[in-house]
Amino acid sequence: MAKFVYDFTEGNRDLKDLLGGKGANLAEMTNLGLPVPPGFTITSEACRHYLAEGSVPEGLEREIADHLSALESAMGKKLGQADDPLLVSVRSGAKFSMPGMMETVLNIGLNDESVHGLAKQAGGNDRFAWDSYRRLIQMFGKTVQDIDGELFEHALEKLKNGRQDTDLTAQELQGLVETYKGIVREQTGKDFPADPRDQLRLAVMAVFDSWNAPRAILYRRQERIPADLGTAVNIVAMVFGNLGDDSGTGVAFTRDPGSGRQGIYGDYLQNAQGEDVVAGIRNTVPLQDLERIDKGSYDELLSIMETLETHYRDLCDIEFTIERGKLWMLQTRVGKRTAAAAFRIAVQLVDQGLITLDEAVTRVSGDQLAQLMFPRFSQEGDRKTITKGMNASPGAAVGKVVFTSERAVELAGQGEDVILVRRETNPDDLSGMIAARGVLTSRGGKTSHAAVVARGMGKTCVCGAEELEVSSSQKRFTAPGGIEVREGDVISIDGSTGEVFLGEVPVVDSVVVEYFEGAQPDDELVKAVDRIMAHADSVRRLGVRANADNAEDSARARRFGAQGIGLCRTEHMFLGERRQLVEDLVLAASKQERQAALDALEPHQKSDFIGIFRAMEGLPVTIRLIDPPLHEFLPDLVALSVKAATGEATDKDRALLAAVKRLHEQNPMLGLRGVRLGLVIPGLFAMQVRAIAEAAREVPGARPEIMIPLVAAVQELEAVREEAVKILRATGVDALVGTMIETPRAALTAGQVAEAAEFFSFGTNDLTQMTWGFSRDDVEAAFFSRYLELGIFGVSPFETLDRDGVGRLVRIAVEEGRATRPGLKLGICGEHGGDPDSVHFCHEAGLDYVSCSPFRIPVARLEAGRAVLTHNDSDTR
Ligand code: PEP
Ligand code: MG
Repeated sequence: MAKFVYDFTEGNRDLKDLLGGKGANLAEMTNLGLPVPPGFTITSEACRHYLAEGSVPEGLEREIADHLSALESAMGKKLGQADDPLLVSVRSGAKFSMPGMMETVLNIGLNDESVHGLAKQAGGNDRFAWDSYRRLIQMFGKTVQDIDGELFEHALEKLKNGRQDTDLTAQELQGLVETYKGIVREQTGKDFPADPRDQLRLAVMAVFDSWNAPRAILYRRQERIPADLGTAVNIVAMVFGNLGDDSGTGVAFTRDPGSGRQGIYGDYLQNAQGEDVVAGIRNTVPLQDLERIDKGSYDELLSIMETLETHYRDLCDIEFTIERGKLWMLQTRVGKRTAAAAFRIAVQLVDQGLITLDEAVTRVSGDQLAQLMFPRFSQEGDRKTITKGMNASPGAAVGKVVFTSERAVELAGQGEDVILVRRETNPDDLSGMIAARGVLTSRGGKTSHAAVVARGMGKTCVCGAEELEVSSSQKRFTAPGGIEVREGDVISIDGSTGEVFLGEVPVVDSVVVEYFEGAQPDDELVKAVDRIMAHADSVRRLGVRANADNAEDSARARRFGAQGIGLCRTEHMFLGERRQLVEDLVLAASKQERQAALDALEPHQKSDFIGIFRAMEGLPVTIRLIDPPLHEFLPDLVALSVKAATGEATDKDRALLAAVKRLHEQNPMLGLRGVRLGLVIPGLFAMQVRAIAEAAREVPGARPEIMIPLVAAVQELEAVREEAVKILRATGVDALVGTMIETPRAALTAGQVAEAAEFFSFGTNDLTQMTWGFSRDDVEAAFFSRYLELGIFGVSPFETLDRDGVGRLVRIAVEEGRATRPGLKLGICGEHGGDPDSVHFCHEAGLDYVSCSPFRIPVARLEAGRAVLTHNDSDTR
């Protein structure tokens, strides 16, 4: 028969799926012999059943009753018994920590009789007993009975009348209990449930229900926590931190979660219960002060913290309560930390002999490394924080405040740095978002339009800064403390922390980027990054190459650790001054004219390649032949039409206008691009291949690879390959000729395509576009925020590779390509090549390398190492 309830002595930390993080860790601490109040955990499986069926599973009530009896025997008291009551807390606890998102009810078991028993237990402390009772009604009313918490707060504030809560007398608190009971009666039409078992049953169901509270749903979506896990519920014998000055409650970290430094970090609040610390009703004191207040408990706590760190081999955070000089542990878990702390702590733990370097690599992430690479605000000087919102898209941005997109575009056009401030953004704000250095909104979460679009653009964004009142019509916003910011005032926003500052905060470059650029590691953080990167490099199987199309980016990529170029987009070399030459090519009326235009382009191409080959000497350079639609290189249709209409057009303008009209396409992304262009304009690809070969001959150590884009059928590839191979032979240059896999058809016929390709590189930007039927250029702004809200996907498939769809095509192509040509080299060069989850996918799918933009290379190196250490490698090559 299914077991739905586990005593703390029965569980352990590996049972998080079933017991949730809190329950599993309470059991673990119990097993370690630490002072945990006795209790038991109702499994998340019971919660899932309740949420699916609308009723608790059969047998659950019986199991709870049995465990409660055992708890009563252990404590020598009965739940809610009039003269000597046992009280319990009911606490949520899911597999993944969702701080403050779900419910907790304390002091279950109190009623008009047992309140006297509690006072007696507490040595005649009536005040404490009535305070505990009013807390029960308040928490129960709010969380179980759905009564507006403000009603209770209001009654309490009125009674306090400016005094501290500790100043309230027993009589006053007894009166407050009556007031609270009145609120319950008025709001629910029923009396507050006096039967302790009813209180317990209802509280358990309320915790189950809180899994689907709107804020919990939102939090899960943001943190990508699956929606169907459910929460476990912990029933724990109450211990009291509010019994007087020899009692209290606190939180602690085993080391600083901000910097990773070892020391004593935490807060303590005398004569209080847990929720008082979080609610901030009185000022806490630093944990160090506990040494003075209660040396015995302090020493015991430090020793427990050491035990926990050694046992968990990681930073732990802790909640504890002291009841009349006796320390009790109420919670522990592996604590959250900043990116810098994650690297420092991982290496410190290696040095302490607690973890291996392999484990250290798994303890940090590519996202954390990326955070450390953004420019950041200087910690020096005055920083006036005016509010904090959500850290939606990292970076540090400073600029003048504007309230409309039009104004953002206008001022940016005059060379000003601006921050676009909106209540929320919508697709019409796109131009303003592009023009601004950063975006700040007062509404919306991490998946709001502003957040999604800003992240896509790599733009700094703070969203959901709810304390701000934004008025676009009055061109101002207000912040707490009577601060008013008008259009043109300067603010600074930190997209990594969500902080908003008044005025200009100086920005400093990342020391981690300086290190990747070649600076010697000289501070603790950089040394930690250096050690972890070195180890990731030593274990990874995937190669890491760069997407770069000029010598400068190639050189930087090499410094960042690139082992070659995976994608050099040659069309970027046709822009700027060379447009003119391309126009000549398009307008060529005869074979001779076309050849002349191509001949004029060739030396330019050759010199570009020479620069890249030099920067990447000795390493492979994959050059992709020209890809995008030709009309992109031609002048604007409207501008030319206006010229023609006003009679200002020259003969060349008129010829260009005709060409632009002729080449106009409804769906350019699906039109005359890539290999199609090479087949339609004779000599174009041949010119590029010749330029590559000539350049390679001039740079000893050049290792060119020629890549054909947008192939859908092997016949296309065969046609251009034959010509390329002929040129290579004639010039005596050795180069692989391969193809991109960017169309679903190429993936599905990879077995045939591999006959003519010496390597594949997955162009997952186009492959995603064509697999989903999503326009790369339009859909993210148009409807992705809605799709994210609806949970159709948790993250844009252009950002993280869609394993089920696009990933399946990749796997098919890998398998069938290698079946035809066993040594087929496989890489990826779409944007996904620098995305952590996608890098893991590439490792699992057995690719040889990933290729990404230079700044993502360290992230890809780290994640390629992590992929080896966190996946079972047996199913890959
Ligand atoms: C791709 O489609 O993934 C790719 C790398 O090519 P581009 O982004 O240039 O279309
Ligand atoms: Mg492409």
